[in-house]
Amino acid sequence: MTTSLPNIITAIQNTINANADEVAELDRAIGDGDHVVNLQRGLDALNNVSEELTTMNWSAAFMKIGMTLMSTMGGASGSLFGTLFVSMGKAAKGQELDLTAFSEIFSQGVESVKKRGKADLGEKTMLDTLIPVANSLQADAASNAPLAVTLDNAKAVAIVGMESTKDMIATKGRASFLGERAIGHIDAGARTSQLMICAIADVLDSH
Ligand code: ADP
Ligand code: MG
Repeated sequence: MTTSLPNIITAIQNTINANADEVAELDRAIGDGDHVVNLQRGLDALNNVSEELTTMNWSAAFMKIGMTLMSTMGGASGSLFGTLFVSMGKAAKGQELDLTAFSEIFSQGVESVKKRGKADLGEKTMLDTLIPVANSLQADAASNAPLAVTLDNAKAVAIVGMESTKDMIATKGRASFLGERAIGHIDAGARTSQLMICAIADVLDSH
């Protein structure tokens, strides 16, 4: 139920705040350094509406989360994370949120991010975390894997995906201006996406 959203938002804020210096450093190395501040602003805005979110169904809540992120975050990541949730809101319309439905809804959200950013796997962006997670959720839903296994797998592929950006050249976003000099640095958006996914999985696992 959407009543879990305040806890999830708090858990996400905690992990982003705890890793803020590292993320700022990552975006300074190959971007302009503002990614973590953009995200913290968006998360503060979500925190302000978190009680309201609990009164909504999943479709409306995802939509509200997306619009809130879009209107407060700024940066490339604001429109991309916003797109992820608005698209999930559309896909969730009239659906019960079991694991199979969620994996489909999340995958549609990730597809919309790909379209919006004109990017795909291997371009050193948040998509290197999000795409493997979408694929892992779908595979586990298809095989009826237990929730705990599904969450562990999602966390594991998020970490592998995030780490995979280290050796990549960026072909999208600010880091693409650096060419080979981007190699050796993890992408900031891939890192924050992984941190958020791991935090969400930990909250769901403890229920
Ligand atoms: P900006 O790049 O405008 O300063 P942020 O610093 O908030 O915005 O976000 C940068 C992050 O956005 C990158 O680390 C990357 O993960 C993600 N990103 C940038 N461009 C794209 C794109 N075209 N597709 C997917 N993700 C992208
Ligand atoms: Mg930036």
